[in-house]
Amino acid sequence: TLPVVAIVGRPNVGKSALVNRILGRREAVVEDVPGVTRDRVTYSAEWNGTRFSLVDTGGWEPDAKGIDASVALQAEVAIELCDVVMFVVDSRVGPTATDERVVQLLRRTKKPVFLVANKVDDAVLEAEAAQLWSLGLGEPHTVSALHGRGVADLLDQVIEAL
Ligand code: GDP
Ligand code: MG
Repeated sequence: TLPVVAIVGRPNVGKSALVNRILGRREAVVEDVPGVTRDRVTYSAEWNGTRFSLVDTGGWEPDAKGIDASVALQAEVAIELCDVVMFVVDSRVGPTATDERVVQLLRRTKKPVFLVANKVDDAVLEAEAAQLWSLGLGEPHTVSALHGRGVADLLDQVIEAL
């Protein structure tokens, strides 16, 4: 069976956009409305000849317990089933309480975790992403899922960790 890379994070940070960027096609549904993802969850991906499964956790809808509990539950499930975690945050919003909650879950796993700072569409936005060091997950990997910026570098490192 293929190694599994899970993409976790709050709604609207660009998880599905990142999936599409990695796949090189538009399979995951990108939505402007936070939390609305109705697509399937697992995709077959490949980078530099290494095949892996890519799990977009956005497929679970927020439940009655609210967005926070939902995101945390998604992250918990994903951490269990994966080999490597990509934790996506919105560099333009900065760390939120929900992000902190996911970080607490991620701290408990020995699996490699990549902090992905998305929406860094240009060099000017790099500086803003530095505040994400405060999450305590090490270096923020700055990317733009929309434009592709930084994604190749990120994937090179993810593959190394598989
Ligand atoms: P998800 O809920 O985490 O799956 O987020 P989506 O992939 O559905 O994206 C949510 C919104 O963020 C959409 O309006 C996307 O167009 C936008 N978005 C995603 N990635 C980027 C990016 O790299 N840069 C910018 N500027 N917007 C992005
Ligand atoms: Mg999504």
